[in-house]
Amino acid sequence: MKRDTENDAAGSGGTPAAVTVTRTTCPYCGVGCGVIARTAADGSVSVAGDPAHPANFGRLCAKGSALAETLGLDDRLLHPVIAGQRATWDEALDLVAERFRSAVAEHGPDSVAFYVSGQLLTEDYYLANKLMKGFIGSANIDTNSRLCMASAVAGHKRAFGTDTVPGTYEDLEIADLVVLTGSNLAWCHPVLHQRLMAAKAERPELTIVVVDPRRTATADAADLHLAIQPGSDVALFSGLLAHLDRTGAVDRAFVAEHTDGFEDALAAARAIGLAGAVAATGLTEREISGFYDLFARTSRTVTVFSQGINQAADGTDRVNAVINCHLATGRIGRPGASPFSITGQPNAMGGREVGGLANQLAAHGALDDEEDRARVQAFWGVSHLPKKPGLKAVDLFTAMRDGRIKALLVMATNPADSLPDADGVVEALKACPFVVVADVTAETDTAAHADVLLPAAAWGEKNGTVTNSERRISRQRAFLEPPGEARPDGWILSEIGRRMGYPGFDESSPAAVFREHAVLSHRLNADRRDFDLGGLATLSDAAYDGLEPVQWPVRADGSAPGGRLMGDGRSYRAGGRLRFVAPATAQARTPSGRFVLNTGRIRDQWHTMTRTSKTPRLMGHIAEPFCQIHPADALSLGIEPACLVTVSSPYGTVVVRAQVTDGVLPGNVFVPMHWTDRLTARGRVDSVVAPLVDPISGQPALKGGRCDVARFPATVFGFAVTIHKPAREGLDYFALAPAKKGFRLEFAAVSGAVDAEALARRILGMSSSEPLIAVADASTGSHRFAAVSHGRLMGAVWIGPEPVAVSRAFAAEQLGVGGPDLLLAGLLAGRPGAGRADGGAVVCSCFDVGVKTIEEAVRAGTCLSVDEIGRHLKAGSNCGSCRPEIKRILDTTKNCLQTV
Ligand code: SF4
Repeated sequence: MKRDTENDAAGSGGTPAAVTVTRTTCPYCGVGCGVIARTAADGSVSVAGDPAHPANFGRLCAKGSALAETLGLDDRLLHPVIAGQRATWDEALDLVAERFRSAVAEHGPDSVAFYVSGQLLTEDYYLANKLMKGFIGSANIDTNSRLCMASAVAGHKRAFGTDTVPGTYEDLEIADLVVLTGSNLAWCHPVLHQRLMAAKAERPELTIVVVDPRRTATADAADLHLAIQPGSDVALFSGLLAHLDRTGAVDRAFVAEHTDGFEDALAAARAIGLAGAVAATGLTEREISGFYDLFARTSRTVTVFSQGINQAADGTDRVNAVINCHLATGRIGRPGASPFSITGQPNAMGGREVGGLANQLAAHGALDDEEDRARVQAFWGVSHLPKKPGLKAVDLFTAMRDGRIKALLVMATNPADSLPDADGVVEALKACPFVVVADVTAETDTAAHADVLLPAAAWGEKNGTVTNSERRISRQRAFLEPPGEARPDGWILSEIGRRMGYPGFDESSPAAVFREHAVLSHRLNADRRDFDLGGLATLSDAAYDGLEPVQWPVRADGSAPGGRLMGDGRSYRAGGRLRFVAPATAQARTPSGRFVLNTGRIRDQWHTMTRTSKTPRLMGHIAEPFCQIHPADALSLGIEPACLVTVSSPYGTVVVRAQVTDGVLPGNVFVPMHWTDRLTARGRVDSVVAPLVDPISGQPALKGGRCDVARFPATVFGFAVTIHKPAREGLDYFALAPAKKGFRLEFAAVSGAVDAEALARRILGMSSSEPLIAVADASTGSHRFAAVSHGRLMGAVWIGPEPVAVSRAFAAEQLGVGGPDLLLAGLLAGRPGAGRADGGAVVCSCFDVGVKTIEEAVRAGTCLSVDEIGRHLKAGSNCGSCRPEIKRILDTTKNCLQTV
């Protein structure tokens, strides 16, 4: 079943209604879960996990489960736009082709650039790379995947000679030890974490170690959490290598037979040793020795690494420090034993396969390899492939600011928010003479600076393939017609190529492009690399449509059907040997700032929230940006829980809510990466991050920068719920989020005196003559307002000199409510009142269960385990993403009960 129809027994009038069933893939993270989309005759869509997909076997996380809620058209870009005016496709594409052609003619191929995305499908990615490198003749195409896994790519190539992930997801389940380093798997790759936790439930002896400066949900669910100082990863794993050698845990035969460079790497590791690891990590000798002994004695060990390793100025060395320990023990590509890079994006791997990075050629080829260049040149029928790498993401926008880039095409990404020195990126976009943005969303912080906007088809509207973190290629299939004039990215790229006068862009059907990509992978790699899709090179259109998830390599002779790689110790490096790499780069940091700034994801949001912010239940988990800060630091700065703080550097400043927690180390803060100018006054944390990069991979150090934190001098705080979008002008702080029947708004202002009623009316969009219920409390200086029209609540506002105590979930539920269900007295008091439950902040997005409901059930003694909470309240019983949080609430509440 790929696309099929089934009868919906719930069809009206007893007549079954036809439902179209489509098997597709989740567009969010690198786990790459299979999704079944059901489209009813009325156009409504529901989604479920695909039980037959080998990445998730039917599971979906909170984000995946909410996919159907993100399909609305309210924010969609529906037609081309030139200089703010609606245009035809012909007008827009002709203009784009002409401006790129004239820039190349006048200033050379390197004066233009593409900045694309791990959201693109492989076929679209292939066309973008072919157009830029093959025909325009520049390597100036880079991708937001540079921000997530370029260090893993560089580390793989140094150690293996190829960009190969040796293991499979199953390895996490059958390992005896899983080390998660720089990975908040529970929040960032939830379904893989659920698979791991299910394996742990079956085999409690499976030990999970989390290495992370922050106590994350993943750390809460682990057997051991090593809260290392940021930047000490190389020291930790170098110390481990020295320990493996000292304790006789090195697989000497494997090292001798299959590797190079062991002695150099060991000498560097010995120079650090246990003492160096203790000094750098801040852990005790006992903690580190315990971890080292565990690693040494457990042959079935998987080390999972992700952004906490990659997003650093020494990210590539961190990757190799991890891989060194696996090479030393021969634990690579064997059942339950491998280093394992997990990618952030759904198609970061596909982008790597087609050469979406500025330093790659197509099909894992190398730009500086004569043989690769000759084969690709012959295949594309071109004569001037670039010989040197193009500009990597950070350098690309620096060049743009300097005036070296005359025309830019951005596809499916939002660099004005996601790149470091994000304000500098905005300056670069302003400086570029011609900016084209192809996107799904009409208004993003990047689209605001576009000369031309091109409406792209979204998930569910386009066809192609993606590759997940275990090298598994899956189909994304369309089940909706693109709305308005939106078109697939591949069609847009082919049209630009054709209109620039290039051959090779006549066929843009995804099946044809996939075949071309597969043929090229075979021609380039059949004898040189493991990325070979030769066995898929002759797929018919129908076979492509029905393609089942498959891991590469897929050799033409059927000799390598995916699975684990390098288990035999052989690589595609010269001589077929794997390579140890002695770390060499020093950890670089911005010079000033009291705190180490860590940035990252939260559980229910994705990237710059263009999709996930559309659903109230995902926004109900965490509705505003925050800064986690240690209690000792907060005390020293006069920062109390829930007050507002500035987080700043010489590059920029954000204003976010303080979250005082010992989950971060003293001297460290954490701020989520998702918020933009669309939803906050100043919440773009990457504007604070310095544009430092790893010198080998070019990956920005989005973690481990420096910043200062101070109390934000707000004198007015407030919260509002409104049916209509609230006004935000003049507010010094705001965070906007959707509610089920409207919006919710956190706000604050720096103002000596404020007319509370005037402010409430402005936020609610009400004139001075419209009726507004007002209650003031002179003793606290607080004000509450409610707007009721025809007996229904249209909005409510709470204003005070301190952060206002209001049950947000209850207030949002009251929107649009009328008659006896409208609890006006309770609403104005900010809580439901006696006899009415106040669920509190949402913990379980699937069943809308709040923290207070869980606490109450624990206090009442009805739920004393996570499973009991699932049975009684349903919380955590669907996608499971919230189970670590439920456990933390459970443990905290139980502890409170014991100490009372
Ligand atoms: Fe999508 Fe969640 Fe699966 Fe990632 S883990 S692919 S976000 S359903």
